[in-house]
This record gives sequence, structure tokens and C-alpha cells, in this order.
Amino acid sequence: MERDCIFCQIIAGRQPADKVYETETVLAFRDIRPLAPTHILVVPKKHIPRVADLSAEDAPLMGDLLLAVRAVAEQEGVAHAFRLFVTNGAEAGQTVFHLHIHLLGGRPFRSLLG
Ligand code: AMP
Ligand code: ZN
Repeated sequence: MERDCIFCQIIAGRQPADKVYETETVLAFRDIRPLAPTHILVVPKKHIPRVADLSAEDAPLMGDLLLAVRAVAEQEGVAHAFRLFVTNGAEAGQTVFHLHIHLLGGRPFRSLLG
């Protein structure tokens, strides 16, 4: 728990969030600035700032995280078509330094290859 981290505060129940899914290790809640009809942030409860800060001991937790993505996609009815993205570092657009997966669905997406 990092006191200045907004996602840690949500996990601790000290800040409100529209929670959609929770396990012992993972929490998922709706993004306050959605980029698609479904836009959910799937976050480990452990405070890890970025993917670049992961260590080998986090491997099971990262498995939990991706399995939570699958569960949320099914729950939201977007399991047939969704897009994931992760930011790492301010220059990559990261604004909240608590690792999170963006899960977007409910609208078509263009190929990233153009
Ligand atoms: P990133 O830019 O990849 O770090 O993503 C951070 C995301 O967190 C942005 O899409 C924000 O809209 C979202 N966000 C920031 N604060 C909150 C909050 N209190 N509740 C829900 N989503 C938030
Ligand atoms: Zn945090």
C-alpha cells in the first residue's frame, strides 16, 4: 500500500470506484474516462509501479491478472472481441504508477498495423 497512490487507495476502500470484479489478489474497476463502452482497469492489489518493476516472484500474480482479464471480459459480454493495453513510463502515456491493464471492448477497433 502506497499512501499517495490512487489505485492503492481504491483497493483499500479509501477512494470510491465502480468495482466490477475482485479476487484475493486482483481488483477490476471502470475507468473514469472511458475510451470505449467497456473500459475497465484490471490491477494487482500489490503496489507495483510498472511492468519494468516486476520481479520473478510476481509471476503467479501476473497469471492471476490475465485470468482476471478473461473473467471480466466474459462478465462484460466482450470475450469475443476486446483490446488490452498497458502503459509503462510517462513517455508511454502512463499517468498512474500502479501497474494496470486497460481492457477495452464494446466497439470495433482498427488494426494497429493500419
Ligand atoms: P494510464 O494513463 O495508462 O496510467 O492509465 C490510467 C488510467 O486511470 C486513465 O485511463 C484514467 O482515466 C484512469 N483513472 C485515474 N484515476 C482514476 C480513478 N480514480 N478511478 C478510475 N479510473 C481512474
Ligand atoms: Zn498503488
